[in-house]
Amino acid sequence: VKRTGKNATRFFTPALNDATLARLQMESQLRAAIRSDGLNLHYQPQVNANTGTLTGLEALARWEDPELGVVSPGEFIPLAEDTGLIVALGTWVLREACRQASAWQLTVPVSVNVSPAQLVRADFPEVVRGILRRYGIRPSLLKLEITERLTILDPEQTSRNLQALQALGISFALDDFGAGQSALASLLNLPLTEVKLDRSLLTGVTEDPASWRVLSAVMDLARGLDLQVVAEGVETHQQLEVLRTLQCETVQGYLTGRPVPAEKITQRLQKWKLAASD
Ligand code: C2E
Ligand code: CA
Ligand code: CA
Ligand code: CA
Repeated sequence: VKRTGKNATRFFTPALNDATLARLQMESQLRAAIRSDGLNLHYQPQVNANTGTLTGLEALARWEDPELGVVSPGEFIPLAEDTGLIVALGTWVLREACRQASAWQLTVPVSVNVSPAQLVRADFPEVVRGILRRYGIRPSLLKLEITERLTILDPEQTSRNLQALQALGISFALDDFGAGQSALASLLNLPLTEVKLDRSLLTGVTEDPASWRVLSAVMDLARGLDLQVVAEGVETHQQLEVLRTLQCETVQGYLTGRPVPAEKITQRLQKWKLAASD
């Protein structure tokens, strides 16, 4: 250790070590959780904006560590991205979501978030195909969500992988659309069928004409590109009204259903099925 002054060493070294140590510990606990089935999935309904009919379910990763307690995805997903654990985590999520979709005999797609690090791997299409085969899931019942927030790695390889999966019948949604971070032109080379409007686009739309115009323009852009629109983070009836007026077909948010454990969805699916057979 180079000592420029006693105090400087005392001040910096312990703090740095603490933070680094905590992160390393969390990394090794996350690694263990992925290996030992210590993660869970919650599912959030996507519904038709006019009829309320269920049109899909998004799988969202959850982690409750025996020592750390509940760690939010906002914390452990970036950690997984930084450490490369996201590939193993992402495969686990895909497998668990497909297992559950098969147990439910789901007739609407299950949406799974995938990271650039997964999409770029040469074995990604084979991994996905293997999981679909194993659980007997039709490819049209799987939707993969790709966030606009992260840079696509090796766009050519990623594009080839996605095209191979699209040829099977799997569809792709562009997540966090309008969050304002993307190189849009490069993303639009991907075989997308849907965009999910970032929740920030709904802020202020019920009071502020400028916010309303931005939302309306983003929806026009999506439609101009022949993409289906899902509005995320819908929390109020007023927001839903605005979205209906703008002819947004699908919504996902606390208003129409929070992310919940699989058991809760099982109960609701039974009610939906009973209602449908009436
Ligand atoms: P996301 O993919 O955009 O997922 C939607 C997030 O918005 C979820 O947060 C959901 O709980 C939250 N949300 C839904 N409706 C509302 C609403 O009406 N109001 C508000 N304020 N929030 C709402 P969550 O579950 O904490 O996940 C955060 C992010 O972590 C996700 O954002 C996604 O980017 C990432 N993530 C979660 N699971 C996975 C995964 O399995 N793989 C990858 N790669 N990322 C994941
Ligand atoms: Ca589990
Ligand atoms: Ca998502
Ligand atoms: Ca999103």
